[in-house]
Amino acid sequence: MLTKWRKLVFDVINSSEKPLNAEDIYRLNNFKPNLSTVYRALNYLEKKSYISSVSFDGGTKYYFSKDKHFHFLYCTNCGKIEVFEECMASELEKKIKSKFGYLITDHVFYFKGLCKKCRKEVKGNE
Ligand SMILES: [Zn+2]
Ligand SMILES: [Zn+2]
Repeated sequence: MLTKWRKLVFDVINSSEKPLNAEDIYRLNNFKPNLSTVYRALNYLEKKSYISSVSFDGGTKYYFSKDKHFHFLYCTNCGKIEVFEECMASELEKKIKSKFGYLITDHVFYFKGLCKKCRKEVKGNE
């Protein structure tokens, strides 16, 4: 059983098309519990495996639904995060399984680089 706030935070994450950090959720949420309530709810939901999270460069945690299989593009210049769904991991997983005898149950995948906008800016400075 989820408490009211946990359920609310869970619903926000579940209906989002992109990963959200605690402050995003706080801002999106019309009912506005305080930010620490959001953090506590996120910790609980992740610990109980309702949701997953990813962080880039050891920074802010971004949370996303377990029902969605996201892969991320992280811009190291502006911090923008874009998502794509195509998964290229299955071939690699097969190889790892046979080489290491390892059973893969999940993966988190992201590319680091420069987004379109930042690429243009870098080019402009050349
Ligand atoms: Zn960027
Ligand atoms: Zn994948």
